[in-house]
Amino acid sequence: MSKTVLITGGSRGIGRCAVKAFANNGYNVAFTYLNSEEKAEKLATECSAFAIKADASNSKDVSNAVDLTIKKFSKIDILVNNAGIDEFCLFTDITDEKWHKMIDTNLSSAFYASRSVLKDMIKRQDGVIINISSMWGEVGASCEVHYSVSKAGLIGLTKALAKEVGPSNIRVNCVSPGVIDTDMNAHLTNEDIEQLKNDTPLGKIGTCEDVCNAILFLASDKASFVTGQVLGVNGGYII
Ligand code: NAD
Repeated sequence: MSKTVLITGGSRGIGRCAVKAFANNGYNVAFTYLNSEEKAEKLATECSAFAIKADASNSKDVSNAVDLTIKKFSKIDILVNNAGIDEFCLFTDITDEKWHKMIDTNLSSAFYASRSVLKDMIKRQDGVIINISSMWGEVGASCEVHYSVSKAGLIGLTKALAKEVGPSNIRVNCVSPGVIDTDMNAHLTNEDIEQLKNDTPLGKIGTCEDVCNAILFLASDKASFVTGQVLGVNGGYII
């Protein structure tokens, strides 16, 4: 029986790449999207995946997405908490609203989705949760304090939850990307990109496929003794 994966924020970037990668590897794939219904439905058709409109920062939307996925595929074997936003902003310019939006979208979202899928995973004594953090969650980024905090929180969630649910045969890991070529970095100038490449030992920025290969590994039985870990995919930018 094919395994089922639920990916949050799957309509573009790393999430979209993950939808394709899991589908190509024989998984049943469900994914959530926020607004881009047309794009999401097209991807769903291309990959025989199941697209669900759900705001990852809304606990009711998320539990509904989990219920719909279980109804369709009977279980969720793997959850990928990918949905996220970033924002470049001086610390003193972060309003309460900006702070809460960042934390709700990047961190509370993973709490809501993990809590929802775990009920069934614990019953079945099987499951994998993969959180998409960021190297800035490991080392902190200037002018991205709220982003860095949300991503550091995901690392804390990963480690603590891995200890709690390990005895139920559930693995929880993080992928921590460096600079990846997606819309999230569309604001960077060519000069910024060149500088980032120069600062990276491997001399390049990463692709969505680089990140998805790490996600696929952690989802697979090849990682059956790996839990509570932060797998950096950053070309050596932070070591
Ligand atoms: P992206 O902006 O292309 O994709 C983000 C996805 O999340 C989009 O599909 C968006 O619609 C979705 N999303 C945002 N808010 C949502 C919400 N409330 N509900 C549902 N979906 C929502 O960026 P990406 O680079 O593909 O980012 C994917 C993940 O990887 C994010 O968590 C991001 O923080 C992380 N990441 C990216 C990089 C990078 O350099 N691109 C580096 C480190 C970590």
